[in-house]
Amino acid sequence: MLFNKYIFFFTTSVLITFILMSICFCNFCFANQNLQFSFHKLESDKKGHTLLIIGGIQGDEPGGFNAASILATRYKITKGNLWIIPNLNFISIINRSRGVYGDLNRKFAGISPDDPDYNTIAEIKKVILNKKVDAVLNLHDGSGFYRKKYIDDMHNPLRWGQSIIIDQKIIDHPFGNLMETAKKAVKEINLKIKSKEERYSIHNTKTYNGNHEMSKTLTYFAIRNSKPAFGLEVSKSFLTYKRAYYHLLVMENFFKNFGVEFERDFELSFSGVKDAINKDIQICLNNKILLDLEDARKQLRYIPFRKDKKIELNSRNPLFALVEYQGKYQVFYGNRNITYIYPEYFEYDEQCADSINILIDGVEKKINFGKMIKVKKHFVVKPIKDSRVNIIGFVGEDKNKDEANILVRKNDFIKKFSVDKSGLIYRIEVYKEKKFSGMVLVKFII
Ligand SMILES: [Zn+2]
Repeated sequence: MLFNKYIFFFTTSVLITFILMSICFCNFCFANQNLQFSFHKLESDKKGHTLLIIGGIQGDEPGGFNAASILATRYKITKGNLWIIPNLNFISIINRSRGVYGDLNRKFAGISPDDPDYNTIAEIKKVILNKKVDAVLNLHDGSGFYRKKYIDDMHNPLRWGQSIIIDQKIIDHPFGNLMETAKKAVKEINLKIKSKEERYSIHNTKTYNGNHEMSKTLTYFAIRNSKPAFGLEVSKSFLTYKRAYYHLLVMENFFKNFGVEFERDFELSFSGVKDAINKDIQICLNNKILLDLEDARKQLRYIPFRKDKKIELNSRNPLFALVEYQGKYQVFYGNRNITYIYPEYFEYDEQCADSINILIDGVEKKINFGKMIKVKKHFVVKPIKDSRVNIIGFVGEDKNKDEANILVRKNDFIKKFSVDKSGLIYRIEVYKEKKFSGMVLVKFII
């Protein structure tokens, strides 16, 4: 299900030129980058309160940014509004770093105009201060398990996991009783958590009383401006899907208590969230090429890219980024590099039709480029005037021969040419002379 209507800024368009430096302390260095955070407004027709959710302020906390990404893409708001920024520190997310330019969550009290994070800070401050925002939830993955008293190394006051953070008990605002709100949330959430260890606590950092580190954070910036804000911490002791699950569990409680009503298209359970993160992940390039990346091979070769190297990346999921690296492209999904694309450069045929006709198990259908069809037994691509159909990996494939009007079954493919590791997804490409017209994916259902 798509909720395009509710999403203000939906697609991530990324065009990146990287100048690689010879000495790096990180995986790769960014001399020039354009990885802006995305901003999703899920708004309903029924008036209500607005919550601002921020994920990925630190790039090495995948529980937070995956949970926020799921919110942005799998929830529909039926009362009130959610504003979501799932990938605030996007460059650090794909670099698997807390902060490529230092800790972004220590730059809210003051920042030099020369700091590469300057614009990000200025933009996010504007959103936080927007009159419509009633409260802010900032998502974190923290070490161990916060406990008010020392129990052992992983359960003590210096740990952060499984806690709701407030900077002080109360501020001057209709929702300003932060302690009461947090208490209610913790009480209600803990009723749903069987494991004692995994239950939540409240951590009041008492920032005003001289907590120097916390005074530089996003939540304290909000507090200083009389805007309710909470830090939500899950434990880094869990795998990513379990962290995201807990973030969603806690956030749904906040939604309820702020009167924000919603629907979601998956079950809120460990396995439901795991599937929401890992299944049905696709990117579309230049509106002509769809790549299904759920089970992608480590390398995808000879993908037809534009000769001028312009790339328009679209995905329902805001955590995708494409990074050029030594002649190939790394595809990042959050902080996972899920495949490498080895491009082959072509001129694009911009005048061509945007669809082709395919007989799918005997039924003719018009299919747009950049889409995937599901086939049980066989398909036939109908001939296209002045164009050539190339079925990549088709036995006896001849690049210069038109492969329209041929009945093709799964066994007619050489498995190593599939997009996925299981050998079920293949590419149909259309060319007009030497120009690339578009691609359709075929997925065999077994
Ligand atoms: Zn954090």
